[in-house]
Amino acid sequence: SDVRARFFQQLAHYDVVNEFEVRWKIGASGEGAPGNAGASWAVLSARRMKYQGMDAVLTVFSPINHLKQMEQRLELWAKVFEASSEGIMIVNANERIMSVNRAFVRATGYDFHEAFGERPDFLIPDHVDKTFFVDLWRAAQQKGSWQGEVQLKRRNGETLPVWLMISTVREPQGAPSYYICTSIDITDRKKSEERITFLAHHDVLTELPNRSLCIERLRSAIQQAERTGQKVAVLFIDLDRFKNINDSLGHHIGDGLLRSVARRLTEAVRAVDTVSRLGGDEFVVVLSGVENSEEVTRVLDSRLLPLIRKPHDVEGNELHASCSVGVAMYPADAQGIDELMRLADVAMYHAKSTGRNTAYFFSAEMTERAERRQQIESRLRHAIVKGELSLQYQPCVDAKTGELVSVEGLLRWNSVELGKVTPDQFIHVAEETGLIVPIGEWVIETACAQLATWQSETGGAFRELAVSVNLSASQLRSSGLLGALESSMRRHAVGPGRLEIEITESTLMEGVQINLQKLVAIRALGVGLAIDDFGTGYSSLSYLSRFPIDKLKIDRSFVHEILGDPNNLAITRSIIGLGHTLGLKVVAEGVETEAEAIVLRGAGCDEFQGFRYAPSLSPSELSDWRAMSSAEVISRQQALSL
Ligand code: C2E
Ligand code: CA
Ligand code: CA
Repeated sequence: SDVRARFFQQLAHYDVVNEFEVRWKIGASGEGAPGNAGASWAVLSARRMKYQGMDAVLTVFSPINHLKQMEQRLELWAKVFEASSEGIMIVNANERIMSVNRAFVRATGYDFHEAFGERPDFLIPDHVDKTFFVDLWRAAQQKGSWQGEVQLKRRNGETLPVWLMISTVREPQGAPSYYICTSIDITDRKKSEERITFLAHHDVLTELPNRSLCIERLRSAIQQAERTGQKVAVLFIDLDRFKNINDSLGHHIGDGLLRSVARRLTEAVRAVDTVSRLGGDEFVVVLSGVENSEEVTRVLDSRLLPLIRKPHDVEGNELHASCSVGVAMYPADAQGIDELMRLADVAMYHAKSTGRNTAYFFSAEMTERAERRQQIESRLRHAIVKGELSLQYQPCVDAKTGELVSVEGLLRWNSVELGKVTPDQFIHVAEETGLIVPIGEWVIETACAQLATWQSETGGAFRELAVSVNLSASQLRSSGLLGALESSMRRHAVGPGRLEIEITESTLMEGVQINLQKLVAIRALGVGLAIDDFGTGYSSLSYLSRFPIDKLKIDRSFVHEILGDPNNLAITRSIIGLGHTLGLKVVAEGVETEAEAIVLRGAGCDEFQGFRYAPSLSPSELSDWRAMSSAEVISRQQALSL
């Protein structure tokens, strides 16, 4: 009723009413807009007039329901346009911006008025060609739409990575009238993509380049060196005894140390060089544009090695690290990437095996050695079954009488393919591969069998003879040792005191607690214990006195220099004194001359072993030797009694 009142009021005032919007009833079945059932929109215009002499009103109705609906839709679209989280920019056929929405304003930093009427070129980053949008319009025109990843420039100069979609709106004749450009901000996606690409080429723990990137860098360093005539150095770096830190302090601290080492290595070289981690505690450094190997030595000695040796602070723990380094040079050592990496690895292995904490340049002799080692390893696996191993026996004599007291069993390997291989060449390989355990059991079994043979021999010259065998660290750690000793001894009826084991001083000190229990158990089997190579390790004397030891064997390096160096004589004297104080027998090994024997006898040494008396011998050679030396013993005794 109020609309009606307004209508008639206007009509009364002005005599006309123009374009008056009304809703009017069109009956129960009328097709009103949804929600307006029974009502319909119309525009009406009216004029007061005289008709046939009477006051009349001429009214014109235009139904505008469809216009009203369109208007509502437009309103809705405008809301969608504004509320969209995607930036929208509408550009006309003259390449002028007609509209931008709020998301566009937010993303680019330009407000509506700055953008309106402008060419969108201000959105092109400085490094991009100015025909950028023209090309896009052309592409969008041809196909009706275009989409792709582009960079826009924000008002503050930053670049904005977006996914841009352009749709062409055409006139009925087909000419483009508008381009609707929708953009989605992909900054976050870009960041995570970058992270993924980074991770594909880097090590997660240290963020250093990984193997594949390292190889890439090495390749370009080589290409560069080809042009300049300079050299490239590949450094293989392996931390020494890293496993100990991991095992004793935990992986967490181990990881911290690796990160610290990564930082130090990076600090040690120039920015153009590459520091990478291959995994575990292995790092590779590529030094590019190097003049000569002296330059590499300088980097190693004055920066890299000292930096690694400086204490590392890992969560309050002061850790000390050292590393073994192998270096291969391009082009002198090899031209190919794989070969360079391999040779650096060989040199690193060499540094490890010569006592660690040092650097070596690759040399051809190392490959031979590495190949030889490889051969030894593969042949050694079959040595027992092929019957290539034998045990020889080196006599140990009484220092005063020269009488045979015991023999030391020494392993000999006569390989069909490699010929005679000395224990110094194959024992450490056996230790590293774990083969020492079955080999060691074979040694124990063979020594016990030999004892049984001597026991049963007519004449019985060796009936009382004791045999010692050498045990290395990993044998002592292996769980089967006690069982192996027990079963061989039982099988061959070896009585107490006939079998002895030799353990080096350093092996013994490596794991004091475990060793002590094992040794006590071994002792309980009636097996004697000798400390081998005494004087080369770092014994704690208080520990030493706790072990159930029978003998000390003074290392042959002291014996050898006893005549030339008064210090060695002094050390030897004190070892003998110490041994006697602890109630042990003291044996000198490596006695080569009578002069040495005289000095050692004077110092109170109990037994001698060495080439002065005999090398290691087969059982039959041992019989012959004994027969010969008995004559010597008798003549010596005669001389003494005179
Ligand atoms: P080792 O236990 O110190 O053995 C003594 C080594 O010194 C033997 O070398 C022996 O031949 C040598 N030798 C003896 N007298 C003299 C001498 O007057 N002068 C010099 N210069 N050398 C002398 P070999 O047989 O080559 O053994 C070397 C090492 O290999 C042994 O040192 C021992 O550690 C290890 N080994 C030998 N057999 C076995 C074994 O069955 N098991 C284990 N685990 N290790 C073994
Ligand atoms: Ca020995
Ligand atoms: Ca020895």
